[in-house]
Amino acid sequence: MKNFKKQCRQLIVKCQDILDLKHYKVTIAFSEDEDYYANAFYEEIPDHEATIVINKRKNAEAKDLKDTIMHEMIHIYLYDYTIYVENVVRTIRDVYDINFDFKTMFKKCYEKEEILVEKLTNVLKDKL
Ligand SMILES: [Zn+2]
Repeated sequence: MKNFKKQCRQLIVKCQDILDLKHYKVTIAFSEDEDYYANAFYEEIPDHEATIVINKRKNAEAKDLKDTIMHEMIHIYLYDYTIYVENVVRTIRDVYDINFDFKTMFKKCYEKEEILVEKLTNVLKDKL
């Protein structure tokens, strides 16, 4: 666990290079929440700022940490698309409002994104 934050920083910088995200300011935070390996939060465009909250215990293995950071950086990479999809779903809800199952559609969008992010992580993680 020594130099854990430094390790995270190095992996993030490498991911920024691989994904062409050098214009992002990525802040690292830590959490004890056992429900997830990590989470990414983004600020509004055009600020290009994001925070990755990492569970130290779940990412104690170097292999897991690499996977986790690549995964979260791909979420950041897809940020524009994610926001667009969220806005499309909200617009459908607000304009049509006919028994529109907003929650299910949102959930489905997130599930699809997770599958895509996992696939991309598997392709790109060996570059780290
Ligand atoms: Zn994810």
